[in-house]
Amino acid sequence: MCKDYVKTEFTSQSENESLARIIVSAFIARLDPTLEELDDVRTAVSEAVTNAIIHGYHEEDGIVFLTCQLEDHTLTITVEDQGVGIDDLAQAMQPLYTSKPEEERSGMGFTMMETFMDHLTVDSKPGQGTKVVMIKSFRCSGEEAIHDGTSAQSQAGGFEQP
Ligand code: ATP
Ligand code: MG
Repeated sequence: MCKDYVKTEFTSQSENESLARIIVSAFIARLDPTLEELDDVRTAVSEAVTNAIIHGYHEEDGIVFLTCQLEDHTLTITVEDQGVGIDDLAQAMQPLYTSKPEEERSGMGFTMMETFMDHLTVDSKPGQGTKVVMIKSFRCSGEEAIHDGTSAQSQAGGFEQP
């Protein structure tokens, strides 16, 4: 079994959304993902991080916590904020629902996360924050790359160009 993770935190600046995409891209490079898989994961992460910044912290100061974990071929991504939280989670997760229609948001962020990842769990407490957990399994063809005797550390060199 191959288990690995990266944990990071960053300030709630919109510029850091692209940083989160780069971190995730680099982290899953060892799985040799297809362009479609890469795009799916990056889009889901973007949506979750943007939500934390825009809704969780209302674009004010805050910290976003990002964890990427890999166990065999299953990727688990957690995006967490300690912002305002969500009062009505069922409503928030409905396609096309947005609490910021004036900003021309489409209300499709959670739907995209659900579509592009295999599994989505959202846990939120009003006044305390929101935790989004997204899981995606990758095809097994990368198995040789992981178990061919090359250690996870020595593969890290390949992550520099996501
Ligand atoms: P889009 O993602 O299409 O730009 P959106 O962000 O409004 O629009 P979703 O991402 O689906 O749509 O989120 C739906 C609603 O859930 C948001 O409008 C917001 O009210 C609430 N929400 C989502 N994430 C958070 C969060 N981290 N903290 C507080 N509220 C959130
Ligand atoms: Mg959104």
